Formats: sequence, C-alpha cells, structure tokens
Amino acid sequence: MTIRINAAFDAGNIRVVAIEGDLIDLEIAKDHQSDFYQWFHFRVAGAKGRTLSFRILNAGGSAYPFGWPGYRTRWSTDRQVWRQAPETSYANGVLSFTHRFDSDVVWFAYFAPYSMERHHDLVSRIALQPGVTHRELGVTLDGQPMDCLTLGEGPKQVWLYARQHPGETMAEWWMEGALEKLTDAGDATAKLLRSKATFHIVPNMNPDGSRRGHLRTNAVGVNLNREWHAPSAEKSPEVLVVRGAMDGTGVDFAMDVHGDEAIPANFLAGFEGIPSWTDELGGKFYDFARALAAATPEFQLDLGYEKSAPGQANLSMSTNQLAERYGAVSMTLEMPFKDHEANADAEYGWSPERCKRLAHACLDTLAGMIDRI
Ligand code: ZN
Repeated sequence: MTIRINAAFDAGNIRVVAIEGDLIDLEIAKDHQSDFYQWFHFRVAGAKGRTLSFRILNAGGSAYPFGWPGYRTRWSTDRQVWRQAPETSYANGVLSFTHRFDSDVVWFAYFAPYSMERHHDLVSRIALQPGVTHRELGVTLDGQPMDCLTLGEGPKQVWLYARQHPGETMAEWWMEGALEKLTDAGDATAKLLRSKATFHIVPNMNPDGSRRGHLRTNAVGVNLNREWHAPSAEKSPEVLVVRGAMDGTGVDFAMDVHGDEAIPANFLAGFEGIPSWTDELGGKFYDFARALAAATPEFQLDLGYEKSAPGQANLSMSTNQLAERYGAVSMTLEMPFKDHEANADAEYGWSPERCKRLAHACLDTLAGMIDRI
C-alpha cells in the first residue's frame, strides 16, 4: 500500500518533502503573503499496521520556535477525539513524532481543529435559540461572512471575539462553550448576565485564515491584531466591520480570545500603557483576573506577558484600542498549545472540553462583577 498524505481540505496545511520507507519528512507552509507559519493539519492514509516517524523539518523557522520544546502533536482517527502523541520531541530545529497506525486514516494537527463548517454549524444552532439575533457584519477578502451573535437585554455592552489568529483554534472552542452557556435556559448565571448585559459575540474574526490553514494572518497576510487603530477595506475588512459595530454600541467589557504557543498555562493580558490609563479602570481588569484565578484551578496569575510601560501601549492591538477608545474593561485571554502544566493530562493535554469549561468560568466571574464594569 502506498502512503498518502493530504492537506487539501478546510484548514489543511502541510507540504511533503520526502517519504522514504517509514520516515516522512514534512514542511509547514507559510501563511499566504506572510512569513508566519506554525499551524499544521494533515491526514495520512495507507499506513495501517505500520509505525511511521514524522519530521517537520522547518519547525525551527516557525513564528514561535519556543512553542516546540515540551509540545506534543495532536492526532485523531475520528476527527472528534484528539490525543497527544507522547513521543513528540524537538531538537535542532526539527519537530519529530512517531505513530503506530491501527486504522486506515489518521489525522494530525497542531491543536484540535475548528473547521469553518463547524463554525457555521455553531452559528446556525445558536442563532435559533430564543432571544438570539444573528447579523452578518460584512464579508472577508475571500468573500466569507463575518458572523456576529447578539443576546441579552441589559444595558452593559459586552463584546467577546476570538480567533483573530486563525491557527489558535482553542479560541473558537472557548466560544462554543461561552455560547452554549449563555443560551442555556436552565443556567441561572446566564440568566443574570442576560438581564444585566447585551452580549455581542464574534466567534471567528478570521474566517479566511482559518480556511486557508494559516497561523496568524488573513487572506493577504495581514495580522488583524495590528490593525485596530486604522482598519481598512483593502487589508483588514474583518476589523473594519467589527470595530464599526462596536462604535455603534459602545463597549463596557471586552475579551479577545487567543492561544499562546510557548506558555503552558492560561493567562490574561490587559491594557497597561494606554494614554487614558486610570488605576480605577485597570483595577477592574485586575479584579477580574484575581476572581477568575479564585474560581478555577485552570487559571493563574504568575505566568504571562510583560506589561507595557506607561504611554507605551500598542494601540493597533484590539485590547489596548478598545480600552482607550471606549473606556472598556478590556483583556486578551491566552490558552496553551502545550499541555497545561497545572493539571497536566498526558493523554489529551489542554483540550476542547477544557477550553469550553474555562469559558464557563470566565462568564461566572463576569457575572460576579457585572454591576461594577
Ligand atoms: Zn493570538
């Protein structure tokens, strides 16, 4: 039987360099019109009964080479359950892993994928729930719709948006959890939140990068999270339409959901360094982070990014821009590609189910301070 490797599907990304016996040499393709790459997703057919060794030869030149030490490749036979390949290793710029094939087709990915088809299933399912309004805010450069779901009747304006960086699929798993909780008629916290706030939710900020199998950019190689000061129809229509909708409602609370390649923990980043920083507004962000850490052992305050110095915030990034523009309690949530070091799980690592549960904890935490934002 001939071994066949294929990535010609939604979010697929791999290039075959060579297949010699049981050794498979691969490369990750760059985002279109960009030098960023790290996301991979491919399937292998025709290997049942064999053990193959894979090498991703260009891992060392990827966007975040610090993401590889301690990382484990995810694999699945049914595209539902994704496990870690325990023998993944990284040395000399090459990511290696082996797999014993017990079935005809096996799928491999950087993290459990979240396809555009699943996105449309999610948006359509949630749009049918009572009290939910769906709006198509515009289209991307590839012509895909920009979806926004609105629910709740309260005066506080809450914006949740995810996957500006399309390879960070954990962000849309988080969204699935958030939307399911907010539309659960039996959830008292959701009921409270819906009475006090109106939620505007963009589950996927970057459909083009998602479908193209990109790590970090849209159809023309633009990093959307460097466009929020001056989005344009030519380079970043995704940000242009979402920021326009935000201008229409104002923003009291915002969360931008991401994944981080290097840090093996969940953490938040705030908006230190914006020109309009006040300790009062910043204090609300710190209060949220402390309350979340108290609410779940899946969140912590020790690991994270360095804070910007006073006046040094990058206003092209959404979290800073929204805090400055609207006086919003604004934050970036990061979840790991690596296993989550606290509560490590050798079989599944940080997983879609845990992303969804973290979303529930974030909403519980928001409910505890919704009157103060
Ligand atoms: Zn990101």
